[in-house]
Formats: sequence, structure tokens, C-alpha cells
Amino acid sequence: MTMRLYDTAQAAVVDIELDAHVRMYVCGITPYDSTHLGHAATYLSYDLIIRRLEDLGHTVQLVRNVTDVDDSILPKARELGIDFLELAETEMNRFGQDMVALNTRRADSEPRATESMKDIIDLIVTLADRGHTYVSEGTTYFDITTFSEFGKLSHLTEQEMVELAAERGGQPDDPKQRNPLDFVLWQPSADDEPSWDSPFGSGRPGWHIECSAMSMRALGPALDIHGGGADLIFPHHECEIAQSESVNDEPFSKYWIHAGLVAYQGTKMSKSLGNLVFVSELRKEIDPRAIRLALMAHHYRSDFEWFDEEGPQAQRDLQLLVRSAGEADPVAAGPLIDQVRDALDDDLNTPRVHQLLLEEAQAIEEGAPSASPGGLVASASLCGIEL
Ligand SMILES: [Zn+2]
Ligand SMILES: [Zn+2]
Repeated sequence: MTMRLYDTAQAAVVDIELDAHVRMYVCGITPYDSTHLGHAATYLSYDLIIRRLEDLGHTVQLVRNVTDVDDSILPKARELGIDFLELAETEMNRFGQDMVALNTRRADSEPRATESMKDIIDLIVTLADRGHTYVSEGTTYFDITTFSEFGKLSHLTEQEMVELAAERGGQPDDPKQRNPLDFVLWQPSADDEPSWDSPFGSGRPGWHIECSAMSMRALGPALDIHGGGADLIFPHHECEIAQSESVNDEPFSKYWIHAGLVAYQGTKMSKSLGNLVFVSELRKEIDPRAIRLALMAHHYRSDFEWFDEEGPQAQRDLQLLVRSAGEADPVAAGPLIDQVRDALDDDLNTPRVHQLLLEEAQAIEEGAPSASPGGLVASASLCGIEL
């Protein structure tokens, strides 16, 4: 059996062909604000993929970075009047607690940008030696004319890329750049910002270089699966590909799996709109297993909306599962878990799994002779829900 998942680069649902050992890199958080439901949904998707791959006999090495220095954490720390590393520490702890509560599998390593500065600088030096960079008024840029495949992941036109870059942290209009799509590798720091010494002057890294450097350090030149939210496809992942493939001359990742974004009551969930639903708040009201269950009712690739009534509904659904499972020991064979595995393999069809679990619980409650409490316990456990 093989999982089938949507690969962004191939723009199709494909067989995921993997060796026994799987190298997986998922872009992590910038620890300046609490874990919201969008993060939870994203990391839950990769958690389910990992659980199913392990169920299929693979070992999965998960690396999830922490962007603890960038253009969002520094202004936030300034606003709060605290050191950015103190802010990072607080938010990383909260994120860790949220992930444990949600029963997501721990990452094998969580490299931090501030602790990977030598690798980051070395990688920029290599890019410079190979002619992929230029310096303009003290800032070092990646020269995208040296990477002919720029755009191959997102399949966007140049005009679309320029527009998106402007929306997502790039500076396409900056006259210092030769090309609007060139991106920062290293930049001078403002007076109150942290800075590191480098051959290109003291300063700090751009947004994209850390993931190329940290994935190479932890997992080698090529990955099996690279993940992250769909808003990272461009520019972040496109830029990671340009950096990594310019030094390694081999495909950076075999598969690119992206999770959709979460909206709240019909509006995009975003920090600027102030409508974030925080996991730490939500789990005061409902069982974290119910949060998992609620998120599974949505397909990982569809941008979905979260409505307040979904929490209480999931809580009732969880109670039904717990009640019908009773004290049964898990039985990891039988028609239910076969169907659950098939659904997970079918581009992570968690809405189908959600339906299968609830139907089985209903059948148990109604005393159907074929219904299996042990099968229900094992199937829920495969999805990270311990009944
Ligand atoms: Zn990244
Ligand atoms: Zn919903």
C-alpha cells in the first residue's frame, strides 16, 4: 500500500514512493504570537501523514524549524519592550504545550535560526562563490536570473509572483534590487536589532535562507517531503528551492505537500484582523482530542472556515466515541481500520475518516453485531485520538 497525496510541484495527486527512512521538513513557527487554529490544522495534517507512514512501516525523521529572528518577531519584541529571545522562549513553550496537548508527534529536531547562524552564513558564502548573489547598498541579494527554474513550484507567472511577493514580506519595488523577484539573503540590522558578524558585513539573515541551511544540516541535501502552510508556497518555498538547488545540483525535495489556511466565521484568520482562535484558549473549553476531531472533519487542502459551534459539536462527537469504545482493547485489524487506512491513503481524506469513526460509534450504540469497539479504539488511535 502507498499513500497518495497532492504534490504541489507536480500539481497532481501522486503515489508517494518512499524508502524505509523518510526525511521530512516542515516550516515551523515564528514565536511571536500564540498557536492559533491555523497552525494546529497545519501541523495536525503532517502528524497524520507521519502516523500513517509509520503504520506502513516507515521511520519518519521530522525536522521543524523555529524562526526566532525575522521581520515579525523583532517589531513585536520592540512593542512589548522585551528582548526578542525572551519573547521567543515564552511563545515556543506555549506552542510546545499546545502541540503536546493535541498529541502531535514530537519533532526529532527543532533547529532555531539564531543557533544556526554559522550554517546560514556558510551557505550564503557558497551561493556567492557560485555567482548567485550581488550586494547592493549593504544588502546581499539572491540574483534570480541565475536560477532558470524559479517559479516551478508555484506555477505562477512573473507578474503574479511580483504581486504576491509584495503582499508577503518581499520588497519588489525596492530600487536596490536589480530584479523585483530578487530576495534578501543578508541585511544590515537596525540599531536596536540583533546582528551577527559575517563576510558581508554585520547584520541578520533574510527570511528564506534559514530553512535551506537548517534542512541541509539536519537532513542532508535532499528531502523526501517538505511541508508548510499553502501561504508559504510563494515566495518562501520557491526561494528555498532556488537557494538549495543552486548549491546542491539535485532536487531539493521529492514531494511538496501544503496545507490549506483556516478562516474564522467567514473571514480570513489573521493577526492583523485580530480574529485568531488560539489553541491555548480553545482547549480550556473543549478536550484537545475534540479539537483534533473537529479539524479532521475538514480536508487538509481546502481552505476552511471555523465556526464557534464546531467546538461544542466536536465535544459531543468525542463523547460518543469514548462512550461506545468503552473499555475495549485496540484491535488493529478488521473492516473499519482497513477503510480508515484507505481513506488516509486517499490524499488524507480525513472527512471520510471522521465519518467512519462516528458511524461505527453509532452502530455500537445501536447494538449492531458487526460493530467493533476494539476496531474503533485502534482506528481512532491511528489518528492520534486515544479513546
Ligand atoms: Zn521554511
Ligand atoms: Zn467547519
